[in-house]
Amino acid sequence: MKIFMNGRLVPEPQAKVSVFDHGLLYGDGVFEGIRVYHGRVFKLAEHVDRLFRSARAIALEIPMSREAVAEAICRTCRANNCREGYVRVVVTRGKGELGLNPFTCRDPQIIIIASAIQLYPKELYEKGLRIVTVGTIRNHSEAINPMIKSLNYLNNILAKIEAINAGTLEAIMLNHEGRVAEATGDNIFAARGRALLTPPPSAGALAGITRGVVLDLARQRGYETAEATMTRYDLYTADEVFLTGTAAEIISVTEIDKRLIGDGKPGPITCELREAFHQYAAMDGTPID
Ligand code: PMP
Repeated sequence: MKIFMNGRLVPEPQAKVSVFDHGLLYGDGVFEGIRVYHGRVFKLAEHVDRLFRSARAIALEIPMSREAVAEAICRTCRANNCREGYVRVVVTRGKGELGLNPFTCRDPQIIIIASAIQLYPKELYEKGLRIVTVGTIRNHSEAINPMIKSLNYLNNILAKIEAINAGTLEAIMLNHEGRVAEATGDNIFAARGRALLTPPPSAGALAGITRGVVLDLARQRGYETAEATMTRYDLYTADEVFLTGTAAEIISVTEIDKRLIGDGKPGPITCELREAFHQYAAMDGTPID
């Protein structure tokens, strides 16, 4: 496997970062996860834009233009013949002194990995996920804004630990006001009649790119869509609930906190949108070559 590091493609064993990199020492950096479908990078410009927004928010200057990052992503896919896969773009603060001060770091590290990802087994897409709400709340937006896709995922990891300890694979995270924010690495939607609701970023959700695509596809199909603050009650009593994310795509949630959602099976809206998403993803995207 060839890894893109700071302008060069290097064999994986040589793709190394310093133990003094603040990405490692403090989780100081940003990242993106992007899909490649049929030799095309899905929503490349949107991911690159979000990467630059995340970097700007943490005062990290990415030493490449947007165009150069986009081209480097395609180049890494080509070098690895990654035509169906998952690309991870990581920008760390770089090597610095011990101590938090990011201004001791002179060279941000840009790393691109083109590989594969399988988040959930196929059967769970047919059966739906059982999930729980957990005690760890989503980061307060005045602490680490959840819009920043930073290398510091401890908040989400703590929630994931709670979910796994409770015998499930995924967690719903609430915000400091007890409103639904998102799952640990996915956005959440509830369907009620012909209306599709999802929490706004202000409730503590990342502005997911899959979320945006699903909102568009739903509107095109005549569903009403809205960003809405939601409580657990709204999820428990929804007709359908599903999660969206680059890796998971669209996955049905059929049980939350031991309450069946709807009739406990993936619902027709989720299935319709999943189908629509696959069709769209097969046609859209930036060719890698
Ligand atoms: N929320 C969080 C916390 C995430 O990390 C992600 C991405 N894995 C998402 C939502 C979904 O965003 P996207 O659709 O852009 O992958």
